[in-house]
Amino acid sequence: MCGIVGYIGNQNAYPILIKGLHRLEYRGYDSAGIALTSQNGNLSIYKTKGRVADLEEFCKNKDISGTIGIAHTRWATHGEPNNINAHPHYSESENIALIHNGIIENYAVLKQQLIQNGYHFQSNTDTEVLVQLIEYIKILNKTDLFHAVQLTLNEIIGAYAIAVIEKGKTDEIIVARKSSPLVLGIGDDEYFIASDASPIIEYTNKVIYLEDEEIALVSRNEKPKIVTVKNIEKTHEIIQLEMNLSQLEKGGYDHFMLKEIFEQPQTLRDCMRGRIDVSFNHVVLSGIIDHKERFLNARRIIILACGTSWHAGLVGKYLFESFCKIPVEVEYSSEFRYRNPVIYQDDVVIAISQSGETADTLAAIELARKSGAFIYGICNVVGSSIARNTHTGSYTHVGPEIGVASTKAFTAQLVVLSMMSLCLGREKRTIDEKRYRELLKELNHIPEKVETILKSNDSINDLSKIFTYAHNFIYLGRGFNYPVALEGALKLKEISYIHAEGYPAAEMKHGPIALIDMEMPVVAIATDNKMYDKVISNIQEIKARNGCVIAVVNENDTIIKSIADYVIEVPSTEDCFEPLLNIIPLQLLSYHIAVNKKRDVDMPRNLAKSVTVE
Ligand code: GLU
Repeated sequence: MCGIVGYIGNQNAYPILIKGLHRLEYRGYDSAGIALTSQNGNLSIYKTKGRVADLEEFCKNKDISGTIGIAHTRWATHGEPNNINAHPHYSESENIALIHNGIIENYAVLKQQLIQNGYHFQSNTDTEVLVQLIEYIKILNKTDLFHAVQLTLNEIIGAYAIAVIEKGKTDEIIVARKSSPLVLGIGDDEYFIASDASPIIEYTNKVIYLEDEEIALVSRNEKPKIVTVKNIEKTHEIIQLEMNLSQLEKGGYDHFMLKEIFEQPQTLRDCMRGRIDVSFNHVVLSGIIDHKERFLNARRIIILACGTSWHAGLVGKYLFESFCKIPVEVEYSSEFRYRNPVIYQDDVVIAISQSGETADTLAAIELARKSGAFIYGICNVVGSSIARNTHTGSYTHVGPEIGVASTKAFTAQLVVLSMMSLCLGREKRTIDEKRYRELLKELNHIPEKVETILKSNDSINDLSKIFTYAHNFIYLGRGFNYPVALEGALKLKEISYIHAEGYPAAEMKHGPIALIDMEMPVVAIATDNKMYDKVISNIQEIKARNGCVIAVVNENDTIIKSIADYVIEVPSTEDCFEPLLNIIPLQLLSYHIAVNKKRDVDMPRNLAKSVTVE
């Protein structure tokens, strides 16, 4: 959440910073701002409520010169999104400017102390406390900015990625991080700073990932100096990124979300590549094979995740229980971390997060690690905090996911969980060899089946027009399709702002069926699996109450076609892989309804990607 970007080099900073903000805008977009130091040392801040485009408008006719600067796109935690609360924030003297991603938990106490020392606050943010405290400590200790930042961070409780510049200092930016991501890009005589690599990649593929509690002095024409807040010197290896620029563009699609939905045949292939050996019908996940004993002796698997990843985790539960006969608990990271959960040393914890930066999941795995559990990460972003803070894991390899509503990351998470459960089931001998091979073969066919579903995009668009103005939706599924119902409902809520609920189909009669009338569309996932007849009965119960049913069915279905009001066809597959196919039409349906309602699909209100705050 929130994007930060910085530049120091020989080029004009402004265009690089603005472009960087556009690339990071998916992380937060309620306000944006920029601080630049001109050649003669003047420090200017320009900031405004709204999008990066509004900031550009605001900066017209302003002095935007300077080859050093920092910029921010905000997802508000403390203080409403307005011009004043937008970052950067000035210190009392206006000599220091700072941008911040995260939450300063002890801001209230510090603010009080600063007010008593004559400091005045303009904003309602926690961030302003940080910049004021840096100045206070700098003056008190008669020290330089770097040391003042270091001393200040020792007083801070909370999460931060920060970038700081000072009036008159045209040669340095100071950055630091704890629990919020920060990447340094290393160019030729220039440095880039960003929350993730997306603003950096068009200039250089050489990066350094700062670790927690590290501060870097990024100076013109010098190697960055990195120390911890406790002043221990650090050296980092420079990492070569493999990302390319076209992955960050819309590629002719109207929205990133649509592009990402359509990328899924390819991303699923990428996710399986090198892991499933087609000729030998074998899945090899080194994360499992290299730590076989931990998995074979696992008393239990705990899956920790939030949002869409939690839905993937629920499918994971069904997979591991079916193929590995290990009990699985799926937990919301945010609940798990603040309970007193019972964690055994022989538990295996699987943490799922697209960004690998989800604050609650990071904290939850820390708790599990302290209890001696073995931690496996499933992330998309290479080098992310979760990837670095787990014993082992698997990347989903889907490339950058920019649309705030997750699509391709979800299906790849399902593929990783499928491969993990099959790999482990085989090691444990809890799955029959013949069945194992059949399933792997079928998994290999999933990308082409997704391609077939994507051909229905136009008909799903037509269908969406009928339901654009519905106020409520119910999504029903059973077995492996229950998490799909939850995920379908979440997609609709996120981007169209229509109220939607996902339910296990049989639970309807225990309450929600009271909601059914002609104005309540019910999306029933009714593909032909072992629950098929049961789901037919559930659909009949809705039709008997005048409900309107949109059913996701298999291509050759005739029974449900005669009962439901509308059907969307998908190819058939094994029960356990149905979520991989059945979610695709639901992603498209949500997308088209949101477009019909003229919603900002890639940047839905109140949301942001990569939830780095609690
Ligand atoms: N807590 C800060 C604020 O509300 C930063 C939020 C963010 O990470 O965007 O301004």
